[in-house]
Amino acid sequence: MTITPLMPVYPRCGVRPVRGEGAYLIGEQGERYLDFAAGIAVNILGHGHPGLVKAIADQAATLMHVSNLYGSPQGEHLAQRLVDKTFADTVFFTNSGTEAVECAIKTARRYHYAKGNPEKNRIISFSNAFHGRTMGAISATNQPKMRDGFEPLLPGFTVVPFNDLAAAEAAIGPDAAGFLIEPIQGEGGIMPATQEFMTGLRDLADKHGMLLILDEIQCGYARTGTFFAHEQYGITPDIMCVAKGIGGGFPLGACLATEEAASGMVIGTHGSTYGGNPLAMAAGEAVLDVVGEQEFLDNVKRMGDRLRQALEQMIPNHDHLFESVRGSGLMLGIRLKTESRSFVAHLRDNHGLLTAAGGDNVVRILPPLNIEESHIAECIEKLSAGARSYKVPEAA
Ligand SMILES: *Cc1c(COP(=O)(O)O)cnc(C)c1O
Repeated sequence: MTITPLMPVYPRCGVRPVRGEGAYLIGEQGERYLDFAAGIAVNILGHGHPGLVKAIADQAATLMHVSNLYGSPQGEHLAQRLVDKTFADTVFFTNSGTEAVECAIKTARRYHYAKGNPEKNRIISFSNAFHGRTMGAISATNQPKMRDGFEPLLPGFTVVPFNDLAAAEAAIGPDAAGFLIEPIQGEGGIMPATQEFMTGLRDLADKHGMLLILDEIQCGYARTGTFFAHEQYGITPDIMCVAKGIGGGFPLGACLATEEAASGMVIGTHGSTYGGNPLAMAAGEAVLDVVGEQEFLDNVKRMGDRLRQALEQMIPNHDHLFESVRGSGLMLGIRLKTESRSFVAHLRDNHGLLTAAGGDNVVRILPPLNIEESHIAECIEKLSAGARSYKVPEAA
């Protein structure tokens, strides 16, 4: 037998973390890494945050899980807080991002069904998007590595070029249910939607009776310096997918919707055994206690501006490698003049800096959101040293 007990779907690297301390990960041999990947934008309070740890420990000892057939004081409380802070009127809790996307797709289809328009079931999504790995989520992306071999995918999806409003409009027909979009594409390489594109999609959705579904799983939850990224565009969605940061490392996601958009989601239409259980809610409450404060958001913005400035200053010193910086808040990407995966590996293996590769030759910088100036300085130092010691691979 050659297959590994862990199904070999990941290209796992040599970092084997066994402990975390704030912005640092510690490996099996005691080696330390500055963690500016944060579990891909998940550990927004860093590792071992005392408030989050205590909330989980206390709740685990009190009540971990009960069925969703019982009343949920814990779920009601966190849902109410999210409703109070957002466009949404109602929340469905999931255990992951892709399940939040699944719930969003179902909510949109069911909305049109409940309105007597079951033919309006086609979701328009965008090139290089990433929405997760369920059949619904891979049907909404055009990336062959995620789709190949899994056909037949779900019918009722059209993928059009990102940031191309004319293409989005041309894809609308009598069967169009809604748009599904990441305001800032994460896996696609920290690629922000333009203001014109976001406003345009909102207007098109309104004009054609479609729903606007935002996937803020990576860009939401304080990552860009506002609670959600769409706030900076001055628009609101009808449905929004949230995950990653919302649990700070505890598996938690959510699908938020307006009352109107959720009008088809009545008793019996959807469910999840674990979704929103007391343990997950305790984690969600502890994270929101911290990131829900304006002070916290202001600090993300301040640290994001510092980091961005420092990256921009560094670029001309290494212009054989670095091209540009993009993104918002602490969701930043350095575009390289060459593919990014081997530079990410070089930073990791030789300079103790964890970042994440993204599409379009981008190195993603996704630190915990409670970092301090010293972490930024250390990141820049490691990046500069990494750029100096890096031998750019010969173009193939
Ligand atoms: C990570 C991610 C997902 C999938 O989340 P999972 O928890 O891995 O299912 C979906 N959409 C976006 C934008 C993401 O970044």
